Amino acid sequence: MRIPKAVERLVSSFEKLPGIGPKTAQRLTFYLLHVPQAELDTFSEAVKQLKSNTKICSICFNVGEQDPCQICTDRERERNMICVVEEPLDVAALERSDGYRGLYHVLHGRLEPLRNIGPEELHIHDLLPRLENGTISEIILATNPTMEGEATAMYIAKIIKESRIQNSGIRKIKITRIGRGLPVGGDLEYADDVTLARSLEGRREF
Ligand SMILES: [Zn+2]
Repeated sequence: MRIPKAVERLVSSFEKLPGIGPKTAQRLTFYLLHVPQAELDTFSEAVKQLKSNTKICSICFNVGEQDPCQICTDRERERNMICVVEEPLDVAALERSDGYRGLYHVLHGRLEPLRNIGPEELHIHDLLPRLENGTISEIILATNPTMEGEATAMYIAKIIKESRIQNSGIRKIKITRIGRGLPVGGDLEYADDVTLARSLEGRREF
């Protein structure tokens, strides 16, 4: 039996998603065949509008509905600290944990030399101009406790330490790293709220 083109197309679209193999892609596609058309329309409309109705914040590079994002424009937040994370999902996790009230900086990935992802592919160097106006007193490096996450944190600490902001003598920015209690090799977004809040509280100078 020949598989209909429409089925084939959706299977190959699902297969491109992270963590989805050919078997799961087929299962999802055949599952959707049983879903009422109206629900499918809602689903496909949501996919269609995903990018057109979201914006990347030009200050912190988080994903939001406006630019600058809600966090960057919120005057109630502590504006003297920036928490550096790998992905927008990490911002969501930290916000959920309720342990942090400062600003963010989203890298959109981590240094991965084996996949040719260097500092230029990430929003690493966009961090430095944010430190120039002298209001930031602490940078919290909250990249994942994986090998790549550690290397990324180390790289960022190095460029801040070498920057003229840090060497101008006016004020030193404290660089800290979260970690205590987080499972090594794990992802921030999967940590539970209490662990996450604790690892923020117990951050150490880097
Ligand atoms: Zn922002």
